[in-house]
Amino acid sequence: MGTASASFEDEEQHQHSSSLRREWSHGPIVVGAGPSGLAVAALLARSGVPSLLLEKTNCIASLWQQRTYQRLRLHLPKHFCELPLMGFPEDFPKYPSKEQFVSYMESYAARFAIRPRFGQAVSRAEFDPGMGVWRVRSRDVEYMSRWLIVATGENAEPVIPDISGIQKFHGPVIHTSVYKTGADFRGQKVLVVGSGNSGMEVSLDLCSHNASPYMVVRSTVHVLPREMFGFSTFGIAMTLLKWVPLRAVDKFLLLVASLTLGNTDRLGLRRPKTGPIELKNVTGKTPVLDVGALSAIKSGKIKVMEGVREITKKGAKFVDGQEKEFDSIIFATGYKSNVPSWLKGSEFFTEEGMPRRAFPEGWKGENGLYTVGFTRRGLLGASVDAIKIAADVAHQWNTAKHTDVFNNSHFVLVGRTQQQRT
Ligand SMILES: Cc1cc2nc3c(=O)[nH]c(=O)nc-3n(C[C@H](O)[C@H](O)[C@H](O)COP(=O)(O)OP(=O)(O)OC[C@H]3O[C@@H](n4cnc5c(N)ncnc54)[C@H](O)[C@@H]3O)c2cc1C
Repeated sequence: MGTASASFEDEEQHQHSSSLRREWSHGPIVVGAGPSGLAVAALLARSGVPSLLLEKTNCIASLWQQRTYQRLRLHLPKHFCELPLMGFPEDFPKYPSKEQFVSYMESYAARFAIRPRFGQAVSRAEFDPGMGVWRVRSRDVEYMSRWLIVATGENAEPVIPDISGIQKFHGPVIHTSVYKTGADFRGQKVLVVGSGNSGMEVSLDLCSHNASPYMVVRSTVHVLPREMFGFSTFGIAMTLLKWVPLRAVDKFLLLVASLTLGNTDRLGLRRPKTGPIELKNVTGKTPVLDVGALSAIKSGKIKVMEGVREITKKGAKFVDGQEKEFDSIIFATGYKSNVPSWLKGSEFFTEEGMPRRAFPEGWKGENGLYTVGFTRRGLLGASVDAIKIAADVAHQWNTAKHTDVFNNSHFVLVGRTQQQRT
């Protein structure tokens, strides 16, 4: 039985492979046209290395264009979020809106003449040791290159926890990736599951549209003011870390946070024992940078609830025994990488789709494999990766340039390549 179905799959695979168009890319294949993919493509272009950028959606920066809410602004000041080679326009505010960020991305792609191939969802990529190339497959094309750069992001797929009873709920259940505005929930009682930056901001947005959010805070969370003494908290931390030990920086941030925000534990937002920067480094968990949700919590507009025990037809039962009715449920429970679903035969990534080696070592794998934007350090981390990758590939490219018979044009059909090889 097992053998029969295996051979059926092999046959199906064979038929599918034989209907694929094949294309050879001289330069690297970059999977994902978000900020990370664009940054690496721009740096490669500047070094004279062509790249082939494959994007599953129909636009660049699809996370920002298609999966974010209207009120979103960069969480960090713009100079911490700019990509290599081109800064934000001077007249942009310190914290650009998502529209401004997208327009910056569009200008960036135009400036470096980056033209991704849209509608190319990579379903499989594997190194072919015989040919010494990566075979990268979309629905109807198999691309090949010596280099594969993974830029599909830490936020590729929404995470929705399996909460008992969720299928019974009578109203809409959505993830923040499809939430646009609180206007869609006016007058409603909304359960928001999750208390990271998105959970806090969506709850705040719901308040400003006369909805009543109940935010579930299941675990501990660090809330910090977005700014301290008129400077960004992130910037202060980055500067202090150059001179002061990490734990001392954490103590300083927590001291200022308690002076400016008060005791957040009393509001149901228990702080972890580990400090905010150390926690970020060890687990990747980002502190919440408060943009107003805390005062809405203090005034009772956002209600903080402990974990959910069970979703019922009309609402939820909580771990503290309370039971409440809701009109809608929003999961602000984050995202995960999708790399394990399509990258095969490589030990470089964990089962969670993150590089096994932590930042700053996680950018380069084996056999021409690279990864950009998996540092848990936002756009700044992506830029650091992109610079290293482009330099490394450009070095190989320039070394091989004069000896490589395939380097005369950007793409050639593999049929022709095979002829040349024989
Ligand atoms: C709400 C929100 C706010 C944020 N704010 C900030 C901030 O202020 N500052 C900061 O530094 N960071 C911020 N981040 C972190 C964020 O991860 C980065 O801003 C940035 O988008 C990461 O870029 P990326 O290119 O690595 O990934 P993404 O932006 O996720 O881009 C990956 C691209 O790959 C494509 N893709 C995925 N799978 C495939 C496939 N199989 N085949 C082909 N294409 C594929 C996707 O469609 C997408 O276009 C925020 C994240 C979120 C969710």
